[in-house]
Amino acid sequence: MMLFIHASLPVHSESDSIIWNLEKSSIFSVRSLYNFLINSRSASIKYTPHFCWKYPVPPKLSAFTWLVCKKKILTIDNLRKRGMVLTNICLCCMRDEEYVNHLLLHCPFISEIWPDLLLRFNMSWVFPNSVDLLILAWNGVDCNKYFTHLWRMAILAIWWSVWEERNRRCFTDSSNFAQVVASRAKRSLIEWASIDDKLRDCGLQFLGT
Ligand SMILES: [Zn+2]
Repeated sequence: MMLFIHASLPVHSESDSIIWNLEKSSIFSVRSLYNFLINSRSASIKYTPHFCWKYPVPPKLSAFTWLVCKKKILTIDNLRKRGMVLTNICLCCMRDEEYVNHLLLHCPFISEIWPDLLLRFNMSWVFPNSVDLLILAWNGVDCNKYFTHLWRMAILAIWWSVWEERNRRCFTDSSNFAQVVASRAKRSLIEWASIDDKLRDCGLQFLGT
């Protein structure tokens, strides 16, 4: 149920009304909810590899996102599980421990990036507790073809840009503000969208130049 609630709603000016999207009649039924939950559970298992490799992004990003979904990227908590003796502190916020769900979902650093992205796509969102639940809900957004492709690629762009920034802080003495990282993510997204004229136009419409 929470997955369904987490799915985003476009922000618009009309008055709110209660609609159950899982039935054509817009009226709630236990059957439709049951089917949704069953299908979502199986989708969460099958979906991840499909999501990672479907879109026109560099292969290393697809591989990275696959590892994110498996929570296997080399965050400090995962390095410690491999026996490395490290102090676990998130390099992006220097407040909490670094683990996948923190770094790529709730870290104050990436929390500065999400609002701008959502505003540009005219979306509102409640973030779940884990990256796999986010992906499941994120991919539940299904508008026109090009918007949907752009929206789904956006999460890869943001996660990769934040991961690059994390590594920059880890391996060099330099760092960037969240706004700079967000701009890099937007540039990457438009660059990837350029393989298709309509996708690029959609990117320019929502992300600007
Ligand atoms: Zn952090």
